[in-house]
Amino acid sequence: MSEMACPKPYDGHTKVAGAREIFSTVDAPAGGRVFFAAAGTSDAGQTRRGHMATIFEKIIAGEIPSTIVHRDERVTAFRDISPQAPVHVLIVPNKPIATVNDITDDDERTLGHMFVVARDIAQKEGIAENGFRLIVNCNKHGGQVVFHLHMHLLGGAPLGPMLAGGKHG
Ligand code: 5GP
Repeated sequence: MSEMACPKPYDGHTKVAGAREIFSTVDAPAGGRVFFAAAGTSDAGQTRRGHMATIFEKIIAGEIPSTIVHRDERVTAFRDISPQAPVHVLIVPNKPIATVNDITDDDERTLGHMFVVARDIAQKEGIAENGFRLIVNCNKHGGQVVFHLHMHLLGGAPLGPMLAGGKHG
């Protein structure tokens, strides 16, 4: 099967000393093979621009195992380790954007693509018809724990009220 080269997945990120590239081939949705390059981390957990690699960067780089349900040149989607619903998938940009506050105009296409991927995964998981919930948490009040922007795709059962907390206003 032939391999095709993806556009650079980490646009605009320059290499720093100690960073390494991890290349792997993965099954493309269309059945072909995609040549995938992900940002690797050094032994100290540092990645490009010198920031500490999050657990999600390590998952994207293939350094930590996960159940990947979708991967392309812009996003990776994998099952949450602690599912809060029968279907709980995290859709993550390959580019390490820390929070919604760190989004730039250049990220618009990738962020839009996350919705397209969410739609397709919901379809494949059989939860599109009944419905599902997409959640993006930001910082402390949003309950963000992993500082690599991600979209939660939750479904497979009625999810109840949008927020579990008390009344406001
Ligand atoms: P947040 O609260 O930041 O929006 O959500 C982070 C999510 O990442 C949580 O739902 C948590 O269960 C999930 N998570 C944390 N560590 C791992 C991991 O190592 N693997 C996977 N697959 N999910 C993780």
